[in-house]
Amino acid sequence: MTQQLIGAIEAGGTKFVLALAQADGTVLAETRIATRTPAECFPEIAAFYQQASVAHGTVAAFGVASFGPIDIDPASPAYGTFTTTPKPGWAGARFHDVLGQFGAPIVVDTDVNGAALGEWQSGAGQGCATLAYTTIGTGVGTGVVRNGKPLMGFSHYECGHILVPHDLELDPYEGFCPYHGDCLEGLAAGPAIEKRWGQSLSKLGSPPDKIELIAGYVAQLAANLVLLHMPDRLIFGGGVMKTPGLVEALRRATEAKLGGYIKAPQLDPGLERYIVTPGLGDEAGITGAIALGRAALSG
Ligand code: ZN
Repeated sequence: MTQQLIGAIEAGGTKFVLALAQADGTVLAETRIATRTPAECFPEIAAFYQQASVAHGTVAAFGVASFGPIDIDPASPAYGTFTTTPKPGWAGARFHDVLGQFGAPIVVDTDVNGAALGEWQSGAGQGCATLAYTTIGTGVGTGVVRNGKPLMGFSHYECGHILVPHDLELDPYEGFCPYHGDCLEGLAAGPAIEKRWGQSLSKLGSPPDKIELIAGYVAQLAANLVLLHMPDRLIFGGGVMKTPGLVEALRRATEAKLGGYIKAPQLDPGLERYIVTPGLGDEAGITGAIALGRAALSG
């Protein structure tokens, strides 16, 4: 039997991954385009799905996992619209403007909610009731999935902008967040590391003191995720987390901050099973976008 086809988009800060997949996740066509303005990207997105439809069949639903901030409330008239993003041209842009012509339902969620869903479904979060997926890359963000549904409030969570203790004697760097300066993203995202020390932690040779500093900031988020959501597992991905030694330092710092307060079988001694890296690697985002599209098929 012919499967329904899903148009899946992973919209990242540096690149878009566009895929046409079967509902079972089999990818039939895929391409990558550089993230520029909507005026440049949207025609390329439309052309890809027009060509892919001719080759493989009509798109039955779209799933979009996107950078933000973006309106992800399906009940909102502005659903799928970028809000306050400083990325040139994107504030006010709407995915429906480019995908609406295909006449298929569209589900839009954040990149981290998409990745959390992908990891829950077929990666390192399988079997978890509650799962938190965090990226530490060019930005910082967390998606939380509960029984396969991404959680939100009146908008998506903004875990990257939590405020963290900042010892200015130990770390005089003021942070780069245009809104808060030294919030978590302002201190620990890739750009903060490069502005502070001139290059990435990996290129610096993973110096232990610098690893400890960044791990300490990220551990504030990890400990707070435990306290706020009690997830069954924490997944940490993104370019910064690929630094050798960082995930180990994060486990130690998180365990120290929790101070033995939470006793649960999920929190194994050393947190080696609790804090893990993505099982799908860099495929988590597009896998999640396909899962979002599948939700549109059924809903
Ligand atoms: Zn901030």
